[in-house]
Amino acid sequence: MNTKDILEIKVLLATPKKIAIIPHKNPDGDAIGSTLGLLHYLLKLNHDAKIIAPNDFPDFLKWLPKVETIEIHETNKETTETFINAADIIFTLDFNAFHRTGNMESVLTNSKSLKIMIDHHQQPDDYAKYMFSDVSMSSTCEMVYHFMDKLNALDKLDEDIATCIYVGIMTDTGSFRFRSTTSTTHRIIANLIDKGAKNTAIHNNVYDTNSYNRLQLLGCALNNLRIIPEYKTAYITLSQKELQDLDYKKGDTEGFVNYALSLDKTVLAAIFIEDKKQGIIKISLRSKGDFSVNQLSRDHFEGGGHTNAAGGKSDTSLEATVKKFISILPAYSKAINNE
Ligand code: 5GP
Ligand code: MN
Repeated sequence: MNTKDILEIKVLLATPKKIAIIPHKNPDGDAIGSTLGLLHYLLKLNHDAKIIAPNDFPDFLKWLPKVETIEIHETNKETTETFINAADIIFTLDFNAFHRTGNMESVLTNSKSLKIMIDHHQQPDDYAKYMFSDVSMSSTCEMVYHFMDKLNALDKLDEDIATCIYVGIMTDTGSFRFRSTTSTTHRIIANLIDKGAKNTAIHNNVYDTNSYNRLQLLGCALNNLRIIPEYKTAYITLSQKELQDLDYKKGDTEGFVNYALSLDKTVLAAIFIEDKKQGIIKISLRSKGDFSVNQLSRDHFEGGGHTNAAGGKSDTSLEATVKKFISILPAYSKAINNE
């Protein structure tokens, strides 16, 4: 995004507009934090702005300021599509291809509104008039901060915006430890605390809300952990029955895959989660160093993401998916063992 783009966006935002802000399907902390941060800012500028999420998101995000105003396309198709069709501007945050919004893909594809992308995933599609795409960024939330900075709007960054942006930086960096965390990320975090973000309370609200069942589910996941030492790989499976028996709720499996990656000498980690309702196995992949799970997921599991964190899916059974995963490892042996 160059100076000319910024100037044009400044002009655009100088008068009230109807603005839809869209995160990806199954929104995470970064998707919800960044859309809410931007929402607070646009409301301050007197825009008619609304977040429309493809589907529901985890309870551990449901305390954020103005989170109750988020409308869900899955349960409110007609009114949300009316809003999108009437919008002057559509911001798409934390994704870069319309198919990442699931059933919202067609309404976004058919929309004539001006699109602005703010995103840090690899290989962006070309749908936005203004593209703020940077794969080196820790999070979309960090990019919303830079976006406001470029617009000379940091004076508008208040406690609510700081809180929302803090959440996404915290969750997407694994609490400020992943490789994408830079000294600039930490400087921004420091500024957010100065603006009123309550770091300890935010961490507690997001991470210390475990139910007994969730910890039992973690126990089950760890019990199912398998290691393939010759490929420095570890993986976890969770069947629909195991999820049901422990009263699975959205977000309960968040972070489980990191336990597999935390094993000594592990370079590649995966979790396979059976979803009988959608008829798919949801896959989360994580890696260390330069080994790209984005590429592995694009090659074999209809997904993508970042070098060290990606998602994907499979339409076959849990057993067949794991079998396929194991069968493709020899092709990556050199890349994995170079790490
Ligand atoms: P997670 O494993 O936590 O669901 O996702 C890890 C990263 O990969 C996130 O940045 C997420 O946005 C991205 N991701 C997850 N699933 C998919 C997918 O199906 N396709 C693409 N392109 N990215 C995904
Ligand atoms: Mn993100």
